[in-house]
Amino acid sequence: MSIELPALPYALEALEPHVSRQTLSVHHGKHHAAYVERTRALIQRTPYESASLEDIVRAHGDKPGPLFNAAAQAWNHAFLWQSMRPNGGGDATGPIAKRIEKDFGSHNAFRQQFIKAATEQFGSGWAWLVLDGDTLRITSTSNAATPLVGSQRPLLTLDVWEHAYYLDYQHRRLDYVTAFLAHLVNWDFANANLTGERPVAESPRKRA
Ligand code: ZN
Repeated sequence: MSIELPALPYALEALEPHVSRQTLSVHHGKHHAAYVERTRALIQRTPYESASLEDIVRAHGDKPGPLFNAAAQAWNHAFLWQSMRPNGGGDATGPIAKRIEKDFGSHNAFRQQFIKAATEQFGSGWAWLVLDGDTLRITSTSNAATPLVGSQRPLLTLDVWEHAYYLDYQHRRLDYVTAFLAHLVNWDFANANLTGERPVAESPRKRA
């Protein structure tokens, strides 16, 4: 299996005015593409040459280095594009809505916790909604780190690297996070991950 840059699931201008065409073009076409290219280069003539991206990330979770950083960023960005959609956001819909009420108390409490995690993540990183055992949780990770390598199941993510928002929001990360929650969150994707309709995490394969 070769590692490829996945196409965006919507047009470059589809998330405007919340994420501009220019931001999405650079973020997907330059940043994400570079992580994919770097991963491809680093796995050449290694046992990972035909591995899936998820397997490469999981295999390197306990030994972060250049390959983990590139592969995890490639995976995180592919997950990010699906975490957003045009005309998304607002209160959760589908099965996850009840889980949010149960585990956070209310949608507004969920929203406040997500904003706190995304704005307080120091420097570059990611904010996540994950399923931890049987409980929804909000977490954040630094740099390329991803819950994919742990026991939590990622349901949604938001990229809080400056490259994700600086062109549109400059230093105002809070405005970017708020716009994501109000207008972009893809609840259908979160529901598919929650209910397992879409396999987000394949089991790591044993290697000889
Ligand atoms: Zn990014």
